[in-house]
Amino acid sequence: YHYSVYSTPSESLTDRFCRMDKEKFGSVADITDKDYYTNSFHYDVRKNPTPFKKLEFEKDYPVYANGGFIHYCEYPVLQQNPKALEAVWDFAYDRIGYLGTNVPIDHCYACGFEGDFAATERGFKCPQCGNDDPKTCDVVKRTCG
Ligand SMILES: [Zn+2]
Repeated sequence: YHYSVYSTPSESLTDRFCRMDKEKFGSVADITDKDYYTNSFHYDVRKNPTPFKKLEFEKDYPVYANGGFIHYCEYPVLQQNPKALEAVWDFAYDRIGYLGTNVPIDHCYACGFEGDFAATERGFKCPQCGNDDPKTCDVVKRTCG
């Protein structure tokens, strides 16, 4: 038999599998009670690690996932501090094989704002001018590469 393990990000399954297990096993502390599973070999997001701690923890797992894997870190707006991002990339370069970098890159075509839109009950809103018209808002909450 030939097989490989793929460490998929698979965000929709982290919700679905947890929901299915909760139906079958009930609410289990630190397992199903948080309503999602941590996907792949990723560090538990509830612990809010630094990118360095996260990558150091995850670096030994890809050898078991020869079907594919990704490391990624999510950041706030870093336009004022690109050196911080560069420090993480330098740290990761000799430790891991593939790193995704997620930063907010929302754009408001009404006022020109670029950065992180605010999430509201009605959708996303430009923090600078209040624009929430989807026709003039470009909101991307996840970019890998
Ligand atoms: Zn705006």
